Amino acid sequence: MGYRKFKADRLFDGYRFREGEVLVTDDGGRVADLVPAGDAGDNIEQYNGILSPGFINCHCHLELSHMKGLIPEGTGLVPFVGQVMAGRSKPEDEILAAIDAAENEMYDNGIVAVGDICNTAYTIDCKKGQRLRYYNFIEVSGFDPALAEMRFETAKELSARFEFAANGQQPMPWSIVPHSPYSVSGPLWEKIIHNAGSKLLSIHNQEDPAENEFFEKKEGAFMGLYEKMKLDIHFFSASGKSSLRTYLTRLPASQPLILVHNVFTSAEDLLYVEQLTASPSIYWCLCPRANRYISTVLPDVPLLMQQGRRIVFGTDSLASNHRLDIVSEISLVREFYPAIADSDLLTWATSNGAAALQLQDEFGSFEKGKKPGVVLVDEHFTGANRLL
Ligand SMILES: [Zn+2]
Repeated sequence: MGYRKFKADRLFDGYRFREGEVLVTDDGGRVADLVPAGDAGDNIEQYNGILSPGFINCHCHLELSHMKGLIPEGTGLVPFVGQVMAGRSKPEDEILAAIDAAENEMYDNGIVAVGDICNTAYTIDCKKGQRLRYYNFIEVSGFDPALAEMRFETAKELSARFEFAANGQQPMPWSIVPHSPYSVSGPLWEKIIHNAGSKLLSIHNQEDPAENEFFEKKEGAFMGLYEKMKLDIHFFSASGKSSLRTYLTRLPASQPLILVHNVFTSAEDLLYVEQLTASPSIYWCLCPRANRYISTVLPDVPLLMQQGRRIVFGTDSLASNHRLDIVSEISLVREFYPAIADSDLLTWATSNGAAALQLQDEFGSFEKGKKPGVVLVDEHFTGANRLL
């Protein structure tokens, strides 16, 4: 593979559109330069559509890929969580085949790096192939305080398996992360935070109105879920505040954090976050197709955009999405919020995502020396092809 020169109707460099420029990559696929078309010489590959750096999927559960199509749409979150718990076990060969197919799908759709939630070791073999880069979020849950020690030890053992899987190759970064505010007990939070230090964390946040209701009033659908699980939650008392405003005080102000979903995050919550934290450390991850799948509601994206909050995209898993495709997530936001500029949406999908996963040295923009991948996006955001 020698030097290549790419030109299309529009070129997005990870931050903005560049007029009339040609992307030049070297024989290792790294960005060599962006030059005006008049200075680019010959052998230019000319395409219709938008050239973009590869996409970053900040929230996926690759290990749930075998659940594609199993759960009906529109159930709401609490029944959905119950069905994931009931349906996640399957013969190992089926699970592994679905993981490989899902990774292929992401590759073909122009995704180059993934923040992947892991409750099991099933994805390790696939990830060792190094076709995509991963940040592994080893997820831990348990609302019963008596389970904290055992659950955390299990997560630590799993994280060690991911760490040693690198085997002389590029190491795979990982953190042990909380599943959600409603599924992590106080003692488990303490273990997570102590272990994380300044590492990146991720959490499902305010995905359903029942989450806020539970923290504000100790009422709603989660009460029924715990009853079904035969969990006595006498130890839990309502804070009178939204879930985000209840749990965020547990974390250091500078904790790098990806908040996933944010469908029921209010203006008041956002103001609170700004006052409490060094807000550049927080990224707001949108998974609009999963929100539509589970509950048909979308987050208030213009509200999240105010004051330069940093937004990124995730696909969530194939249990709650028909495809693992960032362009498809972008197209849904474009449909519902047509005033949002394409350059904003593409920034969230590329440079913001890379920074959120702390992979910005390699990915997210056409800057010299990086190897971000080259993707051709259809001008109407109906699909993407990977060119490099
Ligand atoms: Zn998720």
